[in-house]
Amino acid sequence: MGSNNYIKIQRQKLANQVISAFNKRHFESYYAQTKEDALSIALSLISKEDKIAWGGSMSIIEIGLLNHIINNGYNVINRDLAVTAEEKAEIYKQSLLCDTYIMGTNAISKTGELVNIDCVGNRVAALLYGPKNVIIVAGINKIVSTFDDAIKRARQYAAPINIQRVAGNNIKETPCFSTGYCSDCFSKDSICSNIVITRLCFPEKRIKVILVNEDLGF
Ligand code: SF4
Repeated sequence: MGSNNYIKIQRQKLANQVISAFNKRHFESYYAQTKEDALSIALSLISKEDKIAWGGSMSIIEIGLLNHIINNGYNVINRDLAVTAEEKAEIYKQSLLCDTYIMGTNAISKTGELVNIDCVGNRVAALLYGPKNVIIVAGINKIVSTFDDAIKRARQYAAPINIQRVAGNNIKETPCFSTGYCSDCFSKDSICSNIVITRLCFPEKRIKVILVNEDLGF
């Protein structure tokens, strides 16, 4: 058996632990061995009649979910069609009234807490309240040991990469854009306005986490 298989087995055991932790915290959680499995699970949780919106996430792109719902007749609120800042703001507001909101997460502790950082706040707002259901797609790479490690991952690893992704939106006057690491800045362009910890899921099972035994996003 190749080393990749041993890694896969170890990661599956880790995922099982995290899924138990999620269940204790009243999340609905699923294990997916592959990206393809993750896509099937996500689609089984979504009805074509649902109004669907999403937050910026590489993970939902990488499992093919975003492409699938946009191109297969689902009832989507498509943020990518907004041309002006006003249109985008309106779509973000409408997204809070959707049935199912799809997103990734910046970090997961082994003990089952989610950590997410947001600039505008639209993504974490939907996570907190509004949509009837929230589906989170997360690669195994998002898991770290402790709650403190999850904050650290979100702030010092994910955010400095994310700024490279959003820099095309003219958000780039931050130290991390140039240096590649977080300086805990107060820049007006900081993408770290909001740091949200989801300790428990309320109401229970509103948030569904699909944990995938592959690296997804960053
Ligand atoms: S330097 Fe500023 S924008 Fe960059 S990751 Fe740190 S707090 Fe966020």
